[in-house]
Amino acid sequence: MDYFPIFLDLRTRHCTVIGGGEVASRRISLLIDAGADVTVFAPTVNSTIQRAVSDGKVRHVAEEFIPEQLEASTLVIAATDDPSVNRQVSEAARLRGIPVNVVDQPDLCTFIMPSIVDRSPVIIAVSTGGASPVLARQIRARLEALIPAGYGRLANLVNRFRNTVKQRFEQPAQRRRFWEEVLQGRIAELVYTGQDNAAIAELQKKIESDDHNSPPLGEIYLVGGGPGDPDLLTFRALHLIQQADVVVYDRLVSAAVLDLVRRDAVRIYAGKERDHHVLPQEDINQLLVRLAKEGKRVVRLKGGDPFIFGRGGEEIDTLAAEGIPFQVVPGITAASGCAAYAGIPLTHRDYSQSVVFVTGHLKDGTVNLNWKALVQPNQTIVFYMGLLGLATICRELIHHGMSPSTKAALVQQGTLPNQRVLIGNLETLPAIVEAAEVRAPTLIIVGEVVQLHQRLSWFDPVSPGTASGREG
Ligand code: SAH
Repeated sequence: MDYFPIFLDLRTRHCTVIGGGEVASRRISLLIDAGADVTVFAPTVNSTIQRAVSDGKVRHVAEEFIPEQLEASTLVIAATDDPSVNRQVSEAARLRGIPVNVVDQPDLCTFIMPSIVDRSPVIIAVSTGGASPVLARQIRARLEALIPAGYGRLANLVNRFRNTVKQRFEQPAQRRRFWEEVLQGRIAELVYTGQDNAAIAELQKKIESDDHNSPPLGEIYLVGGGPGDPDLLTFRALHLIQQADVVVYDRLVSAAVLDLVRRDAVRIYAGKERDHHVLPQEDINQLLVRLAKEGKRVVRLKGGDPFIFGRGGEEIDTLAAEGIPFQVVPGITAASGCAAYAGIPLTHRDYSQSVVFVTGHLKDGTVNLNWKALVQPNQTIVFYMGLLGLATICRELIHHGMSPSTKAALVQQGTLPNQRVLIGNLETLPAIVEAAEVRAPTLIIVGEVVQLHQRLSWFDPVSPGTASGREG
């Protein structure tokens, strides 16, 4: 171990920063966050530091460096752009036995600054021992994604109830189990979504309850898995699928997203192919209820957004009726994902001031839409589940007054390595699609914005089995 990590209490401690530029200002703001009493010595300071000075957060002394400035400091940071001044600061601090950090010059430092994930009071510090600040930042970014923003509040909650729990449970093992359940369970989830009062109420109930052996009621998380590219998951979706006991997923959830599910979670495929449901909707609803009653934390993972043509509303309706706790996590819907990755803005000041999402596959199997409402000038129409009805859709739009030359696109497997974009107009698209051996899922976008694809297309996946990712 080249460096020994410690956490220093700097509250009201006198800290000295030499230098008044951009780099100094970033260090100063960290010191302010830590509650330090900061003095900056520099002939001039930048506007950020100036503002902190006006706000009374730091003191500025407009002087060149002299060693006496370091007297009585707990910590010194040198951040000037003059290497010889930085060296003098380092020497003067060492002579006085004061820890010193010289920005970007590890050989002059007696301590180095880590990358920080701040969920106060939880702090994570990452260091590569100065080998690669970029690597440290990347590690930090991964931790930021993994650790919910509410972690700090969760730690505060635990702190608040620590003594009460200690009195209630005498055995350390009991206490440990209690806190494990709290920190991995529904109470933590309530904190993450900002429902602190509900979390406190549940925690109190849990402390008072005598029966610590029966499993607590589980919870269902209805989670949007996005259109396919796993990078398009929300932090919250990632967090939930990595800690769920059971994941019940649809066909639309991409393999890359499923790969992120916790290794030892039980995975249940709920199907959902057109006219070929593996589990009828009623069974899915009952399955979720049963799992929750067994105390399981279940992610019901759906493609795109659960509330857009996902029957998410029907599933949680049953849960609500049974009194099962649930939460809903939005996802990027196919229209957003496909439009972005095909370079087709859904609205545009020159072409389209409104956008409608419709399903091209109705409950009774027809494509019986309100065509009049769809055929409006300057409007983009996005058809979900429209492949089978494509010919009907194009014919009816023309029949109801839309110009046959209106541009239309079909996006196959949007955001995924097999994405293809087929471009035509209302007259030509059905034949283009017919000839192209299209694979599900597909989304159809109709409107003048489609012509922008030619200029704005940027995602060009190269994947085996597809000669070219982009066509038209
Ligand atoms: N809840 C989902 C939609 C479910 S309906 C969402 O918000 O995206 C299923 C339809 O979504 C498919 O028939 C298809 O039209 C569309 N779809 C979903 N993912 C898609 C993708 N990656 N590429 C193209 N279309 C997609």
